Amino acid sequence: MARYTESKCRICRREGTKLFLKGDRCYTDKCAYERRAYPPGEHGRARKKSSDYAIQLREKQKVRRMYGLLEGQFRKYFEIADARKGATGENLLELLERRLDNVVYRLGFANSRVQARQLVRHGHITVSGRRVNIPSFIVKVGDVVAVAEKSRKMLLFQEAQEVLARRGAPGWVDVNGSEFKGEVKALPVRDDITFPINEQLIVELYSK
Ligand code: SF4
Repeated sequence: MARYTESKCRICRREGTKLFLKGDRCYTDKCAYERRAYPPGEHGRARKKSSDYAIQLREKQKVRRMYGLLEGQFRKYFEIADARKGATGENLLELLERRLDNVVYRLGFANSRVQARQLVRHGHITVSGRRVNIPSFIVKVGDVVAVAEKSRKMLLFQEAQEVLARRGAPGWVDVNGSEFKGEVKALPVRDDITFPINEQLIVELYSK
C-alpha cells in the first residue's frame, strides 16, 4: 500500500501547526515544531503572500495528513460527505472521526493515528466483540471498541489511561479504561473537534 515517507515533523512544519503525528514526543520540548515553527527548506523563513487557492490547499493538506490519508482516500470521504444531507464540511469531519483507527487513537490506546492503524491491522482491536482489522471501518452509535483480551497485557494498553488523562477523551465516546474499552454513545458533532480546522476552505477547494 502506498504511504508517505516524508519526515512527520516536516509535515507539521509545512502545515504550520502541530499535527501530533509522533506520539509522546509531540508533548515534549523535542517537538520540531516547537523548536522551528516555520516551513522546512532553504526559503522556509521567507515571508510569502498566499493566494486563496494556496490557503485552501494547505487546509486540506493539514486535515488529510492529520488523519494520515492519501489524496484519493480523502477525496472519497469528501464525495460521500457531499452526497449526504447537511453541511459537507461537518459531514466530512464526522466521517474522519468515525474511522476505527481514529477512535482507537482517541481512546488513548495508541500514541498516534499511525500507531492506531497498525494496532488495528495486527488484530489487537475488537468492535462489539468481533475482531476488526480494517482501519477505515466506520463506527456507529452503540459500537463498543475494545482491546482484544489477549492484547491487554501490552504496556501500550496498560498506559492508555495515562495517555487519555493527558489528551482528554472526546465527548461522543464513553470510555471504560479499566475494561480497555469505549462505547460510541453519539456521532461526533462539530463542537467535539477542538483542533483548529476550517473545513469550509476544503469545501471551497474541492468545489472549484
Ligand atoms: Fe509534529 Fe509531533 Fe513532530 Fe512536533 S514532534 S513536529 S507535533 S510530529
